[in-house]
Amino acid sequence: MSNTEKIPYKIYLDEKEMPKQWYNVRADMKNKPAPLLNPGTHEPMGFDDLRPVFCDELIKQELDNDTAYFDIPDEILDFYKMYRPSPLVRAYCLEKKLGTPAKIYYKFEGNNTSGSHKLNSAIAQAYYAKKQGLKGVTTETGAGQWGTALSMACAYLGLDCKVYMVKCSYEQKPFRREVMRTYGASVTPSPSTETEVGKKILAEHPGTTGSLGCAISEAVEVATTHEGYRYVLGSVLNQVLLHQSVIGLESKIAMDKYGIKPDVIIGCAGGGSNLGGLISPFMGEKLRGEADYQFIAVEPASCPSFTRGKFAYDFCDTGMVCPLAKMYTLGSGFIPSANHAGGLRYHGMSSILSQLYHDGLMEARSVEQTKVFEAAEQFARVEGILPAPESSHAIRVAIDEALKCKETGEEKTILFGLTGTGYFDMYAYEAFNDGTMSDYIPTDADLEKGFAGLPKMD
Ligand SMILES: *Cc1c(COP(=O)(O)O)cnc(C)c1O
Repeated sequence: MSNTEKIPYKIYLDEKEMPKQWYNVRADMKNKPAPLLNPGTHEPMGFDDLRPVFCDELIKQELDNDTAYFDIPDEILDFYKMYRPSPLVRAYCLEKKLGTPAKIYYKFEGNNTSGSHKLNSAIAQAYYAKKQGLKGVTTETGAGQWGTALSMACAYLGLDCKVYMVKCSYEQKPFRREVMRTYGASVTPSPSTETEVGKKILAEHPGTTGSLGCAISEAVEVATTHEGYRYVLGSVLNQVLLHQSVIGLESKIAMDKYGIKPDVIIGCAGGGSNLGGLISPFMGEKLRGEADYQFIAVEPASCPSFTRGKFAYDFCDTGMVCPLAKMYTLGSGFIPSANHAGGLRYHGMSSILSQLYHDGLMEARSVEQTKVFEAAEQFARVEGILPAPESSHAIRVAIDEALKCKETGEEKTILFGLTGTGYFDMYAYEAFNDGTMSDYIPTDADLEKGFAGLPKMD
């Protein structure tokens, strides 16, 4: 029996094998990600500057570029045990269907009610807010996955949760909204008339259906003007990548158990949290010179932060109230065309991943929407899981890489992140099935408009 025949369809870990610490890839980066800057003074923001917005413990994690491992508190470990470890699946059926000599694995994060990896960070952020004695948290949600995850975490810990949901999603995804309300969250369509920044945006753009950047501005305003509230964010920030490292750590433990070494690691990239989490422990080995891997970030051609964006300081939100972050960005004023991967529509990208990409340590590809859904359909039919549109970006490139192996005969081992399920995205699948889905790619002129709004740094 060859070694590969012994590898099961699903590699699970038992509770004892689950990681007890998160890994902070910044500790091993020679070029650290650039600090957050005050949007007014352009000075780096320290602990005290960030306290009105974020929870204390999370600020410490955000600013710590040196500590490699953080203990996962027992309460969070207990919560993780309700839906983790997530399975690492050998995609035997997909391999067979493609006729590829490549070995394909995926780490499936959709096995919880929120339907995505976002719960891994939601529970951590809610836990630290609770521990600080806060009453509640505010946040934005675009597609709804983050808001759902945070509502679940807050319900578990007895915290209030105020969600600002991008108006077009609020209207298009009423079921997501109701899941959040079932878990006790209040859900407000953004922009709203509840906040000063919302009123301002509505006055300037009457009839706007909102964007993530607008909703962030509103959620931050509410957190900073309500006693006992802080703002939490589901992606982009260093702390979120830290919490999501649990994905990569579990993957690595499972692969090491069977002596599997991935050659290529692929993930979709919206704000970069699942990809950052998946690659972190592997990237750590690469940074320390212990092993080498090829990393590929996959983004929509309609919102191409890595592949066509600029590496610059930018606002994280439309209202320009948040700190400036140095990242690959399309400009905070860039509003991507309505595509069906709501979780990948953010204008910027994690500062950690931006620095790694800038230093040539990882690659990025952009893919068109219809090609993504072709991959989703192919995957669903053979592997059974109905993938989220976001996750299907990674599936697309995993299939492309596997087909390349078919041509060259290479037996590469491919690992990709399957971040979630697509049950709330059936309008998107409907458009694909009806053949009415379009592929919008912004022109250079469209992008120039976004770049023109980048803050002038000196
Ligand atoms: C939010 C989301 C993403 C993208 O967010 P990242 O922070 O880039 O990981 C990808 N897939 C799913 C299912 C999501 O909910």
